[in-house]
Amino acid sequence: MRKKIIAGNWKMNKTQEEAMVLASEVIHMAQDEVDSSVILVMGTPFIYLQAVKKLIPAGGHIFVGAQNCHSEVSGAFTGEVSVPMLRSVGIEYVIVGHSERREYFKEDNAQLAKKVDLLIGYGMTPLFCCGESLEIRKAGNHLDFVKNQLTESLFHLSAQDFEKIVIAYEPIWAIGTGETATSAQAQEMHQTLRKHIAHQYTQTVADKISILYGGSMKPNNASELLAEADVDGGLIGGASLIARDFIDIAKSYPA
Ligand code: PEP
Repeated sequence: MRKKIIAGNWKMNKTQEEAMVLASEVIHMAQDEVDSSVILVMGTPFIYLQAVKKLIPAGGHIFVGAQNCHSEVSGAFTGEVSVPMLRSVGIEYVIVGHSERREYFKEDNAQLAKKVDLLIGYGMTPLFCCGESLEIRKAGNHLDFVKNQLTESLFHLSAQDFEKIVIAYEPIWAIGTGETATSAQAQEMHQTLRKHIAHQYTQTVADKISILYGGSMKPNNASELLAEADVDGGLIGGASLIARDFIDIAKSYPA
């Protein structure tokens, strides 16, 4: 059984007071309503990680995660946050390679490979984002493009380390646009990626990897997406800012 994961990406939103309200609501609703087999991750801004972590009961299925990390262990990188820093405050999940990082901060596959290595080295779980632009999809190159993102950033890992990765397929044209990939489009990509992983490693390894879908996942489309055989969860932007919506998505797995 692959892990079911619903991860929120709050991006650069919420003041401290708002963040605490949102996190408290998510935690309370999750405890009452979400099956403990579903892992929930709140991807908060760095500045709230510790405060949100303090609100979360230990040993459960709710976690706080970071949205990024630096690719070096330490040094003269003003304003950056390192993997050992995150580890030292008890963070377990870190989003890497979000399309906004790739676009605005020019992060490339090689740099992301370094981030992944560090995270695994420090015993943390990378939520590795991949996905194509509309232009690439229209040209019909989307499957190869995303496969190559995995090849260049992840396929240097040993099978043992690869199993620690969570993948989030996020078509860029669906992020924050209100346009969602159809469940068939999501399934096609997820299945392609799983086959790609099986080809590089083994089917047993591929069958263990959780592949999340991200891109305007909402309460009204989550159940259709999560019903697909290779869609194991969601990475949620906009809807993670509303506790009710985030929790309703987490309750959308087929019975
Ligand atoms: C995201 O940024 O990862 C994302 C999926 O955003 P949204 O849900 O708003 O499309």
